[in-house]
Amino acid sequence: MERSFKQEVESLKLGDGQIFHGEGILAVTKALLQSGVSYVGGYQGAPVSHMMDVLNDARDIMDELGIHIETNASEAGAAAMLGASINYPLRGAVTWKSTVGTNVASDALSNLASAGVIGGTLIVIGEDYGEGASIIQERSHAFAMKSQIWLFDPRPNLPTIVNLVEQGFNLSEASNTPVMLELRIRACHVHGSFMAKPNRAPQFSRKHVLENPDFDYARICLPPATYAQEKQKIEIRWPAAVKFIREHKLNETFSGAADDVGIITQGGMYNAVLRALQQLGLADVFGGCQIPIYVLNVTYPLIPDEVSQFCVGKRAVLIVEEGQPNYIEEATHAILRRADLQTRIHGKDVLPMAGEYTGEVVLTGLARFVQLAAPQGVDAADAQKAFESFLSAKRSAAELLGAPVPTRPPGFCVGCPERPVFSAMRLVEREVGRLHVSCDIGCHTFSTLPPFNIGNTVLGYGLGLASNAAVNPMFGRRTLTVMGDGGFWHNGLTSGVANAVFNRDDGILVIMKNGYTSATGIQAIPSSVEQSQTKSSDMGIEKALAGVGVKWVKSVYTYRVGEMVKTLKEALTTSYSGLKVIIADAECQLARQRRIRPRIARMLARGERVVRTKYGVDDEICTGDHSCIRLSGCPTLTIKPNPDPLRTDPVATVIDGCVGCGLCGEVAHAAILCPSFYRADVVQNPSPWDRVIDRLRRAVIGWFQTPAPWTR
Ligand code: SF4
Ligand code: SF4
Repeated sequence: MERSFKQEVESLKLGDGQIFHGEGILAVTKALLQSGVSYVGGYQGAPVSHMMDVLNDARDIMDELGIHIETNASEAGAAAMLGASINYPLRGAVTWKSTVGTNVASDALSNLASAGVIGGTLIVIGEDYGEGASIIQERSHAFAMKSQIWLFDPRPNLPTIVNLVEQGFNLSEASNTPVMLELRIRACHVHGSFMAKPNRAPQFSRKHVLENPDFDYARICLPPATYAQEKQKIEIRWPAAVKFIREHKLNETFSGAADDVGIITQGGMYNAVLRALQQLGLADVFGGCQIPIYVLNVTYPLIPDEVSQFCVGKRAVLIVEEGQPNYIEEATHAILRRADLQTRIHGKDVLPMAGEYTGEVVLTGLARFVQLAAPQGVDAADAQKAFESFLSAKRSAAELLGAPVPTRPPGFCVGCPERPVFSAMRLVEREVGRLHVSCDIGCHTFSTLPPFNIGNTVLGYGLGLASNAAVNPMFGRRTLTVMGDGGFWHNGLTSGVANAVFNRDDGILVIMKNGYTSATGIQAIPSSVEQSQTKSSDMGIEKALAGVGVKWVKSVYTYRVGEMVKTLKEALTTSYSGLKVIIADAECQLARQRRIRPRIARMLARGERVVRTKYGVDDEICTGDHSCIRLSGCPTLTIKPNPDPLRTDPVATVIDGCVGCGLCGEVAHAAILCPSFYRADVVQNPSPWDRVIDRLRRAVIGWFQTPAPWTR
């Protein structure tokens, strides 16, 4: 995996009164252990992939407490696992990336929320929203509302996060309803400390097992039980939740002298709000603030009495609610109308409707609010001056820069095994014309960016082949689908491959078999070569394909560009009618480098012989047309000034960082480009035989390079 938590998990053993220092996501795990959880699971995905990594690294602790840990095949599987809490007093927690994961899980979530739970259930969702996000920009809030699942959005500090995890289980049990704990990217990685409690062994666990199965038709999601469940949600569970949230003060209010105005903020936005107020001269670094703030650590359901109580006597209130639609703002309007309060609500009029609420966005919105609302005792002109000085510093920085900083789109890693496949596709397109390629989610989605621009659509994880189902029959020529091995196991095998075989589809599927779910931090999947002792190791992609009846399967080592070109052309032209699968096989380069680098370092330290392959470009031969770069896109294959004073075009060059994957040479060969690429074996700690050969080679080359006497 990307990161090991072997050392950090030691802090999960801390006992009563000891101080835990660390990262948000680790604090959540400690809070789960303090809550007496019986089972945990999830599907990796940023920003909560580390939670699965932590859980896996903490297996010893889990085993000691009898906690079951499951690496679920998908988010749907994780959500369905929470079914254990429907009939039994088992506390369970699962995690995934939202909203994509919540989309996948929503079937099971609807059923879970309708049936209701006896044991507390907590769903830790990584809200991947904003400029660093990799997914569609939507809000998990919508799922919480539609299925009636309570939504926590904790103020990003460790004691609050830990308290909400513990209270989440209590609330879930008090209202028989699942709870979502929404963590933004910054909350996952915020550092801090809290006073630990001892870990709690669950009442029922792998060590203390259940004995009597429970059957209650009222918990089955089938009419007429579902009608009663809906009534129960509204008449019993909702009021119970509101009572619990109010009585346990899950939301927080911070007072301020300028109490004719106020701010209502999602808990997760609190730090950004406070920092913006501090920059306007209206708050200090310790949280002291001139404007009162009502912090919604629970963003669904809202507590109407609390909202109206906060607004009483206030002329204006600003709602800081990231994303759209503006559910909280609209709901606040309704609450105030019902309470007959005339407080003016600001929100999306001063803050943007869409997009991440970065520090600058929040600062701009708050500055506007202060001007509009003119809080009593606050010098609005001073606040405006502070805002202007911030803007002018930014303007001067931009002027000094001269030009905007170029955007830096993400791309494949140096030596990535997926890059050669797209080089091969480009070469095939030179002969057959542009191809329609249905893309999938994973590192290979970078193919849609320059220099390849390959991939016409992306419809969801593992859904590449399914999204090609109506495209292929509409073209006179076969179309392609690209899917990763992570997507294949997530649902591509069933929704894509089995469906295509069943419907006798004639398309082509390229499976990127790099061995891991690389894009989420290199976690193991069923077909990973190396598995821990807790996982099965005999689940190959080839076997699964054969099992669902795929007959045409070819496996190609990705770096052999010529062979990949040949196989793609064969798949495009063969008379075989039916799904054709090409397995593009080579280990994720990032994982490979992480695996081999420490081993090489140890070998070098022991004085052992190590051979490293490097590639380079001969300046004198390179014509400077850069076809190789357009067909590769490797960041370490770049340009440098032409050493020949008579030629102005820059030449291609391979810079430090080349991992010697060989793609450059392969592309040059397969595309019949210039022969300027060379391969060099760099020998460290050479053997006596290496030295003899080296001397001999130097002598022969020297002899050839010696000018003939008649040329002197
Ligand atoms: S993580 Fe692995 S598969 Fe993904 S781009 Fe990097 S080398 Fe390629
Ligand atoms: S051999 Fe070429 S493609 Fe491979 S890492 Fe080196 S420069 Fe990049």
